[in-house]
Amino acid sequence: MDENYIQKQGLSDIKTILINTLSFFTSSTEIFILTITISYKLYYGNSYFKFSNKDLLIVNLLFTFLLYPFYKKMVHLNFKIALSGFILKYIVSFKNKESLELSTELQKMKTNILNDIHKDGQLAKLHELFPFEELNEEAISGDELLKKLYTVLDIKMKNNDLLFEEQPYSQKKALQGFLSGGIYHNDTGLIDLQSKIYKIFILGNQLHPDCFPILRYLDTFVVKQTINFYTDRDDEVTRKKVCGMTTSGGTESILLACLSARNRWYYLNPVQRALGRKPKMILPETCHAAFFKACNYFDIDCITVKSSESFFSVVSNYKNEISLIVSSFPNFPYGTTENLSKFNELVGIYDIPWHIDCCLGSFINPFVSLSDSIGVLPNFSKLKCTSISVDTHKYGYSAKGVSVLLFKDSYSRQFAYFKQTNWVGGLYGSPTLAGSRPGALAAVAAFTMMYIGYKNYEKYSKEIIETTLAIKKYIKEEMEDIALKNDKVIKFPLKVIGDPQICVVAFTFKSSNENIYYLSEILSKEFGYNLSPLQNPPALHYALTRVSATRENIDRFKKSLYQALEIYYKKINDPNFSLKTDSGDTAALYGIAGSTFTRGIADKAIETFLDCLYE
Ligand SMILES: *Cc1c(COP(=O)(O)O)cnc(C)c1O
Repeated sequence: MDENYIQKQGLSDIKTILINTLSFFTSSTEIFILTITISYKLYYGNSYFKFSNKDLLIVNLLFTFLLYPFYKKMVHLNFKIALSGFILKYIVSFKNKESLELSTELQKMKTNILNDIHKDGQLAKLHELFPFEELNEEAISGDELLKKLYTVLDIKMKNNDLLFEEQPYSQKKALQGFLSGGIYHNDTGLIDLQSKIYKIFILGNQLHPDCFPILRYLDTFVVKQTINFYTDRDDEVTRKKVCGMTTSGGTESILLACLSARNRWYYLNPVQRALGRKPKMILPETCHAAFFKACNYFDIDCITVKSSESFFSVVSNYKNEISLIVSSFPNFPYGTTENLSKFNELVGIYDIPWHIDCCLGSFINPFVSLSDSIGVLPNFSKLKCTSISVDTHKYGYSAKGVSVLLFKDSYSRQFAYFKQTNWVGGLYGSPTLAGSRPGALAAVAAFTMMYIGYKNYEKYSKEIIETTLAIKKYIKEEMEDIALKNDKVIKFPLKVIGDPQICVVAFTFKSSNENIYYLSEILSKEFGYNLSPLQNPPALHYALTRVSATRENIDRFKKSLYQALEIYYKKINDPNFSLKTDSGDTAALYGIAGSTFTRGIADKAIETFLDCLYE
């Protein structure tokens, strides 16, 4: 790829933005509208200055007076060209200084990512056997294709069937508990069943319920069983009222929950909508990125709040402007939970829709013990929540691609539906974002639930919860002292963030001088553990699954973490050590993202990563 391409494109975008902005000023009506908008923003958009109507009128007039001569000048002196020339020149000179360093950094990163994704020799073999250049003219037999795959995976062919145990190396590591989250079980009996069910329903599509009546039933089975996990057994009334749909994953469930709440707000606030007002969503900063995706996709104003206390004051500030408030049980970064009783009170006072994200907690949540911080579990029988998202493909142990979104009643659910009544293709409606849907996955989810059964969901959940508590306890109370060369010892260098009690433990150094990403690299390079990096503040988390919730892994992880810390302190106390040269990708990337000088390039780094996925 032409390295200058992005830069050139960036410049041309800046030019377009400038021209668009300046041509916006070419009519005085628009200036007037602008002044109204500015004063409107001043009036409504900030909580520091409250303008009265009289002030507003004065501000309006002032802006019109100030901007009018400016506008005249622009037209007469061809101000447009002069200004854009000046700004462009400034940007070019500014860009050049940094761009070289930047593009070499990004290029280095790209090479590393590609190496990582295409894992050593495999890429060449893959490319040779499955080339990108033009699709094969003639059909290739199934046997032949399997043989090729076996060659890439370096596996000898047996009985014409790929055994699950014969996993590519990278997947094998994950199956031994070295990966945070990602793979939730390694039950070969279940995987065998899932593959067979998938095969039977492989042509299925929920878009055609008339064609696939059994699939429709199994799809409904998944929703009904999920309702059973999130309502009380003896509460028939609620069980009957709660309803939902399956989606392609947690993100889609969350997108739909936010979309339906937005649609409901628009429906109930037609005048505000006509005036261009947007609904607001109040989010805890620990909520999943999918909520920010929803704000982005559906044009919802998002207000992030740091603590529960300020959450309540923010909600009382915005009241009628709010389409949805969100809590997570547990959240992704720290595996901690919000106080649901408090949220319930809030919803009682303000009558605002409330989503509880149980994507992660999914089928563990019903078995979590109540404690001081967890006063009540997410449950439609006990709480006034509007919707709950539950990932069947996490601790439901189904194949990836199925999640459930539950609503407290069908009134709330209908706002998620899409309806096109006058489409040339006929009356069209769909309950989720997708059109055609892979029904086989819903069937797999249904059979997975039955294969496991309630008692095993309970058993697996308890094992995962116990592992979580054990790792938390080790970091907080049981870690042995770390001896340094100069006879000093370090006691409990790490701290656990919050008080996790479900399936994730997040931790970081107590001292802000240490670099947790470098520790993560040691854990990965020397011990094979792949934990998830977090930021603001820098930290790591380990999401436990059935694969990692074993005695053997707990002991191995404790030992690895301790030894990684020993190596860490040895390295950083070495006078010749330099983090810049000794650390790898993660530390470097988060170093870049965190430094004020290059803050703007974190999004470029993400783009580079995403670009790599399709190379
Ligand atoms: C995983 C997760 C999601 C999103 O799920 P995907 O299936 O990855 O789209 C949402 N919320 C939380 C808390 C999660 O852990």
